[in-house]
Parts: sequence; structure tokens; C-alpha cells
Amino acid sequence: MKKIRSRTALCSIILALFFLAILYLLHTYRRNAYDWFLTPYNRHLYSSENVLLTGTITDRNGVVLSAVRNGVRGYHADPDIRLSTLHVVGDPNCKIGTSALATMRDDLVSFKALQGIASVDEAGNTVVLSIDANLNAAALRALDGRNGTACLYNYKTGEILALVSTPAFDPEDIPEDLEEDPAYDGVYLNRFYSTTATPGSVLKPVILQAALESGMLASDLDPAQTGPITGVRYTCKGIVRFPDGYVKCPKVHGTQTLTEMLANSCNCAYADIAVTLGADIVSGYIRKCGLTSSYTIGNVRTVPGTFEITGVADYRLGYAGVGLYHDLVNPCSLLVYYAAIANGGRAAIPNTVKELRDSSGNLLRRPDVTTSDELVSPEAAETLRQALEEDVRLTYGKDRFPCGIAAKSGTVSQAQGASNCWFAGFTTDPDMPYAFVVYIEHGGSGSRDAGDVAAAVLTELTNSRT
Ligand SMILES: [Zn+2]
Repeated sequence: MKKIRSRTALCSIILALFFLAILYLLHTYRRNAYDWFLTPYNRHLYSSENVLLTGTITDRNGVVLSAVRNGVRGYHADPDIRLSTLHVVGDPNCKIGTSALATMRDDLVSFKALQGIASVDEAGNTVVLSIDANLNAAALRALDGRNGTACLYNYKTGEILALVSTPAFDPEDIPEDLEEDPAYDGVYLNRFYSTTATPGSVLKPVILQAALESGMLASDLDPAQTGPITGVRYTCKGIVRFPDGYVKCPKVHGTQTLTEMLANSCNCAYADIAVTLGADIVSGYIRKCGLTSSYTIGNVRTVPGTFEITGVADYRLGYAGVGLYHDLVNPCSLLVYYAAIANGGRAAIPNTVKELRDSSGNLLRRPDVTTSDELVSPEAAETLRQALEEDVRLTYGKDRFPCGIAAKSGTVSQAQGASNCWFAGFTTDPDMPYAFVVYIEHGGSGSRDAGDVAAAVLTELTNSRT
């Protein structure tokens, strides 16, 4: 009897240990199953070339941009849409590290712990991007083979409607010499997120903002004048001399109001303002405007701009004031700054993702709208908004654009080849809260060439709304 009792006790202990082991196993599975499942060695998810074989990516209107069919990841049938959406959607091998395919792999996989591998199908989850494929294609066509980037977004919601980076390549027919051919230099970078460039005159609103917000007076520039800086009458003689050098304008602009100084893009006036304000104030406003900040877009961090003006001599500070000294700005940061002007001081941070849905169409997640710090005071934003709108009327021509816009161009001469150029601004119709930026390497003139790309995207946008 004693023996039976002791054997029963032993069996009970073994049984208890067995159940404890089962519980531990289930707990470990529950905690780690998703990570085990996503391992790159899982051939149910990835091909031998590490191509994700589940998950769908569409544009904001449900147009399928990338999906898996019969074990192969494919793209849209239209080559313009394939190339223009490449940097947002991604290449099959995820060499474009900022793309949805590279940064949202886990989101594209539909995983149900109880079903395990059986829950995987080719459709997977769907990342619904905020971009409109037709707007992207219009931007690509307008860039016309030149390298650069174009972006248009809704500064209230943060949704990016168009985002193109060139050079691009066809993900259905990847060139074999992609990494050797100089024509594809930097092809894996999305220039909107990951590059910086000399801003030239698109920086001038920052200097004007510094003058407005720092309480600068008209008499600071000319002792014969009185009153606030908004009442200044600045006389451009075509050159302004500092003890150690000079800054020139392409022509003599004569006497100008504050608005005319921006419309004429008068280098003398902006160099004079920057030197009068001093390096510390100018540096402070460049920081305040977010131009040295990095923004987080989904899982991507943008590259911050850099400005080296502390302690520089006057004429170099003057050059920095017209955006030409060692100034480097990121296109995304510049876009958010112009959006903040449009929106009274702050703007939504851009985002390329509209929502995530499962294969049955159920909503899984929608990104929160995040807003920038106050980049410009509401009062200065209003003055800048009016000046930029007047800039379009006086300089660029309102008729070139399908809707009212406020904007500034920048053209930066290069030692060889055509100038690099910018066009940044926003629409002025309250029902169209959109800001845009265009940057083209060796693109020519900011007002003409970069402005034409902005006009093409805005035309496609207004056509799609009617
Ligand atoms: Zn001038």
C-alpha cells in the first residue's frame, strides 16, 4: 500500500512537471512565434533572394502598386507608375531602405498565431499608401529624365499625395549595370528624405521671418527711415559691399518694398538684413524653422540640413542670408516650413501611409497625425503668406498654375552644367490645403523648370478633383 502511495505521488509530480513544461512551451510560443515566423529563412514568406512573397501595396484610391501572384512579386502595368512610385513602394530586394517594402515588412505579413503557416497567403495585409499614382506619374513625366525630387502633401492631415525621386529604375526589369552606371548615382536614395542641397533663394523667407519676428526696424537698414521692417524701402544698387567682400544682384533692383524685395529675390537686401541681424539671430531662426531638424516619417528619419554661419565674416553671413554659403537644406524640412507658413505657424508632419488593412479589408491601423512645433509666428506667417502670393503674381505668373498658389523659387549656379533649382510653396484655396516642393539637379531655372514640375502636379491634382 505504501509503495502504491509513493508511486502515485511520483506520477503526480511527473504529470505536474509535464503540464508545467507544456505551459512554458505555450508561453514561449506565444511570446516568440511572430519573431520566429518573420525570420528571413522562412521560405513561406521569402524567396531565396529574400523577396517578400506576401502582402499588397496600393495607392490611396486602391490602385494596386505591388502584389504577389503565383509566387512572384509584381508591380503596376504602367511603366510611368512603376518608376514614379518606386521609391515609396520599394524594389523587390529592398535596396531602397526607406520604402514601404523595406520598412513595413512586418505589417505586410498576415500572421495568426493559432494557424501558423496556414495563415499566410499571397495577398497578406494591405498597406494603403497616401500617394495618388496618377499624380506621381505626372511628376515623373514633368521631371523629364532629370534627377531630383517632387513632393506634394496635405499640411492638415500629413498625407503625401505625390512623392517622386529620380533617378529611378523599373522594378520589373532591373538594369544589370544599376550599381556601375553613373546615370544611376544615388538611385537607392529617396532624395526627398535622404539628401541635402544648397537652397539658394528658397531660404529667403527664413531671413524675412527673422527680420519680422526679431523686431528689426526699417531704420536698422537705413537710418533715414522710421517704423517697423514691414515699412522698409530698400534701395538695391546691384551690389552691397562688406569689409571683406561683396554680394551682387543680377541687376539693379532700385527702391523696393518688403514684398518687392522677395518678388525680386534681391540678394543685396537679404544679405544686408542677415548681416544687420547677426549670425546668432540668423542661426536661431534657421533652427526654429526646422531646417536643421530631422523628421520621422513612418519608420524613416529624414536627413537634417546643416548651416555653418556662427563666427563667419560679414560677407559670408550675407551669402548665407541668400542661401548660398555652406547652407544645405533637406527637401522635406523645407516643405514642412513652407506648409507652416500656409497653416499659420505649424504643419502636419508628412506621411506616406494612409492605413493598414487585413486581407478581408478590415482596418488594422491608421497613423496618427503629428504636428510640427511652431516654426513661424502666426503674425509673421501671414505677412510671409501674402508676400509669397504676391511673388507669384509679380514674378512667376499666376496663369501658369491651375489654382492660386504662393511660392518661391531658387536657382543655384553650378561649376559645370545647368544650375540646380528649387520651387517651394502652397496652394491658397482653403479647400486645398496642399504644400509642395520641387528640387532638380542641373534642372535649369527654379522659376521656369522647377516651377513647371509643380504646375504639372497641381494640374493633375485639380483635374482629379473635378
Ligand atoms: Zn537687388
